[in-house]
Amino acid sequence: MDTSEFFKQAEQISDDPYSRIPDHVIPVIKDENNLINVHCHIFNDTIVPKRIFNIKMPYSRRFVGNLATLLHKIIGRSNEDKLSNLAYFISLFKSPTEKIADKLVSYFDKNSIFCPLMMDMLQGRQRIVRDDEWEKYINLQFQDLNKLFKQNPKKYNFLPFIPIDPLNEKVYDIFLKAFNGEYGFKPMGIKIYPSLGYLPSHSVLMNIYKVCQEKNIPITAHCSSGKTRGFRKHVKNIVGWKVNKQGIWTQEPESKWFFSGKSYANYFNNPKNWEKVLEAYPKLKLNFGHFGGEYQWNKLLKGKNNTWVSRIMGYFARYENVYADISFTNAYPNLFPLIKDRLLSSSLVFERTLYGLDYYMVVVRGHYRSLKIDFDVAMGEKIIAKIGKENPRKFLF
Ligand SMILES: [Zn+2]
Repeated sequence: MDTSEFFKQAEQISDDPYSRIPDHVIPVIKDENNLINVHCHIFNDTIVPKRIFNIKMPYSRRFVGNLATLLHKIIGRSNEDKLSNLAYFISLFKSPTEKIADKLVSYFDKNSIFCPLMMDMLQGRQRIVRDDEWEKYINLQFQDLNKLFKQNPKKYNFLPFIPIDPLNEKVYDIFLKAFNGEYGFKPMGIKIYPSLGYLPSHSVLMNIYKVCQEKNIPITAHCSSGKTRGFRKHVKNIVGWKVNKQGIWTQEPESKWFFSGKSYANYFNNPKNWEKVLEAYPKLKLNFGHFGGEYQWNKLLKGKNNTWVSRIMGYFARYENVYADISFTNAYPNLFPLIKDRLLSSSLVFERTLYGLDYYMVVVRGHYRSLKIDFDVAMGEKIIAKIGKENPRKFLF
């Protein structure tokens, strides 16, 4: 589909976020006492392509398959032990979507609302998607969610974010079909995951953001230096805005060598990559997932200058619809005092931080129930009400 056809068809999308949510969730949203968790996942291992060769899910499918059996045999579940946390993560990862969803919901008050973030794991490893693979890994997620909603029409207060990957040649179709409700449900927003191997300022994404800004579609972008990533040592023809050797912003495609997965993730996930996006679309509703991540928060804790955390806060100051969710980063108790201090000392940070815990990725850090309560109690009711109730409503609606 060409760009003009995409824009033409996108005109049909409503700019009213309430048109995208199921009827039974509307009163739940309108009751401002109900919490909104903006960052969680309910997909399972079926979305990870079998022939993985350059993508690193925290735990790849084959690894998971072998390890799960082994770990379950040799250890029970205790909170102390990294391996048992990993075993628990694996057992969830291999569970049916419904089981993962029910478990998530069980940790929260009955009327809580969730934004499950979906994932496109295909393009991190190759550029051409075969139709059968498309059916298997991407469409399957839509079907899975649709089935969940159809079987239990009023059970879940879920507002899904669909995966948008500019390297997927069907991306415009996915976007339009999704927001037209052709998958059986309408998504709330879109998820961008740069470390799968693209810059957030990719020209295809710029076209999509134009529609997002016009239609009030919120975006959550992965922003930490770790987690799932693609990894190709040599990436040719990287499209989008970047700073060249002379320190000047350029759209000249570049080819780059990466000598570690970390440098790869750092290059693609850096919040600086959003500079030109926000310049072009200053009203974009954008959430930086993980708020830069625990590594960057620890740098800030040590008094380091120029962290991703500061970069994101800089965007808060310049752009009215930029947010950051604290998920996964809030599984590190050593960071609680710093997070709380920043929330209470700056009204900007207080207004723009969002609540999430990155279920179920975060269970590698311990029991979910305990991680949740430890964070909630450390922050206190005033902060949780602000970041979990008031702010997400501004971000989503
Ligand atoms: Zn996540």
